[in-house]
Amino acid sequence: MKSLQGKTIIVTGGSRGIGKGIALRFGEAGLNVLVVSRNQADADKIAAEIGETASGFSADVGTEEGCKAMVEAAVLRYGGVDVLCANAGIFPAAKLGEMTPADFDHVITTNLRSTFLSVSAVLPAMTTAGSGRIILTSSITGPITGYPGWSHYGASKAGQLGFMRTAAIELAPKKITINAVMPGNIMTEGLEGTGPEYIAAMEASIPLRRLGTPADIANAVLFFASEEAAYITGQTLVIDGGQILPE
Ligand code: NDP
Repeated sequence: MKSLQGKTIIVTGGSRGIGKGIALRFGEAGLNVLVVSRNQADADKIAAEIGETASGFSADVGTEEGCKAMVEAAVLRYGGVDVLCANAGIFPAAKLGEMTPADFDHVITTNLRSTFLSVSAVLPAMTTAGSGRIILTSSITGPITGYPGWSHYGASKAGQLGFMRTAAIELAPKKITINAVMPGNIMTEGLEGTGPEYIAAMEASIPLRRLGTPADIANAVLFFASEEAAYITGQTLVIDGGQILPE
């Protein structure tokens, strides 16, 4: 692939898990990386691992001011934004009957409203540049499968894809592409909270018999950001070890 050296990426949720894997991979590829999470110290720690081409930024991507501030920081520090990876997300479990409207709203705000807000915030910089790459972290849960306790999560992840398909058409004249990765079960700090039984059940249900790694997802995100992916927009890529295929 042609080098992306010197370009700039914002990775939301870059302080842990999949986002951390993406931030590290783009750092290796020579991009300036703005690592975003709500916790400044955590974001700074990953930026320090990458080196002087990276920096941390604290923002809540569920808020308009947070998204605007992170883009302003990237433009100020690095002169623009070439790639946005809208990856931040949460997956607290609550079954129907127990889930409150506040639980539902919190997940939709963090996972879906943030997609709209971060894409809207980055548009002026990408429009000025005359190009841009946006990659969303969706999921197989919601768009393809379901899992007990995650009806709000599934709605948010399916909603991201509905948003993306119209955004792809609207942004194409500006030479901005938008695509989504759909991870299966990826071993991250977030997933550790689901407990050993969930993880063992998942491993048994995956044809490749292992959970994915953040690097598995980061490599696909890097492809969507590459020059070679210039003609791909509005598309999804499932990265799940074959989990959604019937055995
Ligand atoms: P983690 O819990 O490991 O990391 C989540 C990241 O998002 C952290 O950096 C966290 O930092 C940040 N974050 C959470 N809320 C906000 C917010 N409001 N504003 C800014 N940053 C925020 O999660 P994963 O790495 O496992 O998941 C990352 C993405 O991948 C999510 O969108 C998830 O839905 C998706 N995904 C994950 C799968 C998996 O198996 N792990 C499978 C399919 C999809 P902080 O808390 O400090 O803000």
